[in-house]
Amino acid sequence: MSLSFTVGDTTIHRIVEQEIPFQMPRDFLPALSADVLEENRAWMEPADLDPATGMLRLCIQSYVVRTPHFTVLVDSCVGNDKTNPRFPAWNNKRDTAYMKALAAAGLAVEDIDYVMCTHMHVDHVGWNTRLVDGRWVPTFPKARYVFAAREYAHWSAAHAKAPVAVYAESVLPVIEAGRADMVSDTHAIGDHLRLTPTPGHTPGHVALELGRGRCEAVFTGDLIHSRLQARYPELSMRADTDPIQAAATRRAFLEQHCAAGTLCCTSHFPSPSAMRVKRWGEGFRCEMVAA
Ligand SMILES: [Zn+2]
Repeated sequence: MSLSFTVGDTTIHRIVEQEIPFQMPRDFLPALSADVLEENRAWMEPADLDPATGMLRLCIQSYVVRTPHFTVLVDSCVGNDKTNPRFPAWNNKRDTAYMKALAAAGLAVEDIDYVMCTHMHVDHVGWNTRLVDGRWVPTFPKARYVFAAREYAHWSAAHAKAPVAVYAESVLPVIEAGRADMVSDTHAIGDHLRLTPTPGHTPGHVALELGRGRCEAVFTGDLIHSRLQARYPELSMRADTDPIQAAATRRAFLEQHCAAGTLCCTSHFPSPSAMRVKRWGEGFRCEMVAA
């Protein structure tokens, strides 16, 4: 399976850490009825819905964008040695899958110029840091880390009230090392990449648009997790901090990129994870795009 796309003068690589049956659909999408799930089961199996467990299958991955000027890593997965008591498969995980995937794309940690996180959940900031001699240090030694200031403000305020492990392990050490740039949620990285606000999953969630002068591809982060949410954009995911806002963001995003025909690189759709949006009744169909 190929894991890279060419878009204009840039290359996009998928760096897959895990692809797993993750959670039962009605736990993951609390407003999903049993009837609607059954109506959609046929097209969802086996890629989106694992027939053996009945769980939604999710991919956990980073994207690396190589422009003529920079190499940018978008979201940094779960990481090793991180505290994730709510997700046993991620708690103190220690494996070589991610570093092997990076090497298979022809990349070393030194090659990354920017790390950009769509939001600060555990599966999007994990490899920001790694544990060396009991200390969290930035994994990508030459990179600037681009954080949306609005998202950072939310998590730093939460951490000030009660310790948030993901912030302490994967965000704060980057700031203390002087490697973070706090930016607006419309910030541009060079002339190929721009942040765009997509709140709802978290208060400062951003997507990342790619293309010089026009949006040719977009990295969705977690504004959508499943193709079922394209068919029914109102189905918000259990971790969305504002489910109503998340649904409005998702519908607006799907409308925009359906009309534009943009290549949408999702964080969590099963492989090949990239898609174009088509209309489907009141909602949308995700036409997967093989790399
Ligand atoms: Zn996620």
